[in-house]
Amino acid sequence: MAVDPEAVEAVSEILSRVAPGGVSIEQPFALIDEGLAARPDPERPAILRAYLPAIDAGAADRAVREARTLLGHLQAFELRPIGELEVRPVHESDWAEAWKRHFPVLRVGRRLVIRPTWRRHRGAPDDVVLALDPGMAFGTGLHPTTRLCLAGIEAWADEGRVTGASVLDLGCGSGILAIAAARFGARSVLGVDTDPIAVEATVANARRNHVTRRVRAARGSLAMAGGPFDLVLANLIASLLVGLAGGLAAAVRPGTGRLLASGIFIDREPDVRAAFESAGLTVIGRSHETDWVALEARVP
Ligand code: SAM
Repeated sequence: MAVDPEAVEAVSEILSRVAPGGVSIEQPFALIDEGLAARPDPERPAILRAYLPAIDAGAADRAVREARTLLGHLQAFELRPIGELEVRPVHESDWAEAWKRHFPVLRVGRRLVIRPTWRRHRGAPDDVVLALDPGMAFGTGLHPTTRLCLAGIEAWADEGRVTGASVLDLGCGSGILAIAAARFGARSVLGVDTDPIAVEATVANARRNHVTRRVRAARGSLAMAGGPFDLVLANLIASLLVGLAGGLAAAVRPGTGRLLASGIFIDREPDVRAAFESAGLTVIGRSHETDWVALEARVP
């Protein structure tokens, strides 16, 4: 049931009285601090769930009735409104596989399709399909910052920049961008990440997509990457992009090279632009989704 944040404690107390299986509380959050942190959002309701064993249907009915009566009393205290108590059966056997439902096949841009490994996809002949397993380095669906990069890679492919290119994916995470670049025809892709789990995930996902000969992954950051590269992808956060601006400029091949920097929370965009310009990068493109911005840049 949906519950106003003010009433969460009282309602969860009532539900836990009738539901021995416990109560879960899904708090509403709003993003702050460049999207890296979250704070409780008092304007949206929390979702409370309680689980009753259905083996004794009579006992479950009695528990629901009792909860409804107690919730009714609570309303009389003039708290802000609480939602309806909804009841539905949940099959235990559904749980083990239920999480997979949250990962659909995703089309990003025109041709790129992200397919979770257990799903099938029958697409158009020129679809570029990436098979990914959502390990720890891959959230539910795709983050807007990742989508902006994937769309950017597809746009570069349409301009003929990806075929035969050398690519650096700085902060490779699951390897999704590195693998997309390889599948669009890049000659060699280096993914680097400070997190060893990300490096493992990139290697595993490159194997799944049969691009191990063209995608390498290593633990580290810009300093060990070498270069210059034809294409540099950096889906980091604004403060890192500001700090790494000089190194990014050095990693991009002057003239034809391109940088796509993503993960920029909209209110930090001016700082990133200023850092790029003083490092010798010229911003030549911008895309955005919700509060996230990606900038395309080159070195003259
Ligand atoms: N490239 C993936 C994508 O677009 O979905 C993952 C991007 S994730 C937002 C940022 C990644 O950068 C994380 O995996 C993190 O471990 C890594 N990272 C953070 N700071 C880094 C640094 N200084 N150098 C290299 N990688 C870094």
